[in-house]
Amino acid sequence: MKIIIIGAGPGGYETALLAAKRGVEVVLIEAGPVGGTCLNEGCIPTKAFCKNAEVLDGLREAEAFGVTGLSYDFDFNAVTARKNAVVEQLRGGVEGLLGHKNITLVRGKASFKDAHTVVVTPVTSSEGETSEYTADFIIIATGSVSASLPIPGADLPGILTSKEILDIQEVPKRLCVIGGGVIGLEFASIFKSFGCEVTVLEYFKDILPRFDSDLSKRLKQSLGKRGIEICTQAQVTGIQILRCAQDDNKDTQVYSVSYTRKGKEEVVEADKVLMAVGRKANVASLNLADVGIEFTPRGIVVDDKTMQTNIPHIYAVGDINGKMMLAHAATFQGIVALDHIMGVENDIDLSVMPAAVFTSPEAACVGMTEEECKDAGIPVRCLKSFFRANGKAVTMGETDGFCKIIVSDERILGCHLYGPHASDIIQEACALITRKATLKEFECIIHTHPTLTEVLQSAVHN
Ligand code: NAD
Repeated sequence: MKIIIIGAGPGGYETALLAAKRGVEVVLIEAGPVGGTCLNEGCIPTKAFCKNAEVLDGLREAEAFGVTGLSYDFDFNAVTARKNAVVEQLRGGVEGLLGHKNITLVRGKASFKDAHTVVVTPVTSSEGETSEYTADFIIIATGSVSASLPIPGADLPGILTSKEILDIQEVPKRLCVIGGGVIGLEFASIFKSFGCEVTVLEYFKDILPRFDSDLSKRLKQSLGKRGIEICTQAQVTGIQILRCAQDDNKDTQVYSVSYTRKGKEEVVEADKVLMAVGRKANVASLNLADVGIEFTPRGIVVDDKTMQTNIPHIYAVGDINGKMMLAHAATFQGIVALDHIMGVENDIDLSVMPAAVFTSPEAACVGMTEEECKDAGIPVRCLKSFFRANGKAVTMGETDGFCKIIVSDERILGCHLYGPHASDIIQEACALITRKATLKEFECIIHTHPTLTEVLQSAVHN
């Protein structure tokens, strides 16, 4: 069997590796560096920044831990160099794995010639000639690109996306973040720790609109306490360059971001503006329409259970299908697609998808929100606990946080929390929901003391 996989992000390269291990011949086509958005300009570099933010926050609190007389500088060049080194190290690891004898890695931009043939056009002169590949099955995993707002000034020079902000030369004094979603809040949190004045403008009533609203409200308060200005119900209407300041012989722009809130026109001034209003499927140049692959502005239309497109031997996994723009969702959708191609049974439930937001404190969730249960007419009980009553959190001095477990008919349907290490704690709830655990079953699981995971146990015992 031969499979073409287009895109070497967490959807494409993980599927290629699994297929190769199973003896399938794989042609993996990639136009950029392997690892995709996640490794090169998303999850990994952002988490490297998060670590810097944590170190800085730790230094600020050092006196509370008896460490006095500290004097330090913050070298942002060293921060970006470390981030780049982390990315390069991991990319090297992926490149090594892709050296598998069953994988042919082809560099260039792929586009469909017909439903079984893909043409690859080199992006750089070192990538050789245009070439053509055919296969029994094709998996599209070309990911997503940053979306923008159709407002005046959105394309002004210097307006940053989540990719560009990773490579800025210095920490701006004031950062305006448009969009209080996952990307917006992660960068707001990081740059606040880096010493920047941060304002977030969010269109909806709550930040993280798809999350449980109890969680969103509390996290907003928590980030507010850290000094991040969060303005909800703010519709951004335009961006202007206010002036070009002359600073150390460098031209530095100052931006003015206009928005309406409750009928009133307001503005935020900032030295940098981050546009974080979502991402859109990267369908450009694939030539989908000519081959008859169905797609909408959300992405390529696929079957929920198999990831198959309307053309049975073509599959689409990851951000490109617009279902769940998460790296781990892409990887597991890839396994599901490959298993379907190979007729392998699996037990993967793609509807139980954990998600984490790497703010400080972190937030995480899995399963249904209280609102979703209400809309579906499911009667629920909400079990809550707080990190301030968790021994380990108190020893760490990180007591801000709460946990909410949603239960119906004694089964756990959802878990939503924010607090220290929320992104790790959620995994237990994910395992329970995936295995359709009852509260009784959960109560029998012994939790190590003192650990942060006891926050789940406390919610159930409360
Ligand atoms: P998002 O959809 O999570 O958030 C975009 C936000 O922008 C929304 O809250 C929306 O209401 C707001 N918005 C839209 N128009 C606006 C306007 N005119 N004015 C003010 N606000 C406006 O998108 P994102 O944060 O850009 O992230 C993109 C995708 O990447 C998401 O699917 C996200 O889950 C994924 N991602 C995940 C992680 C993670 O798992 N930690 C990290 C980064 C990105």
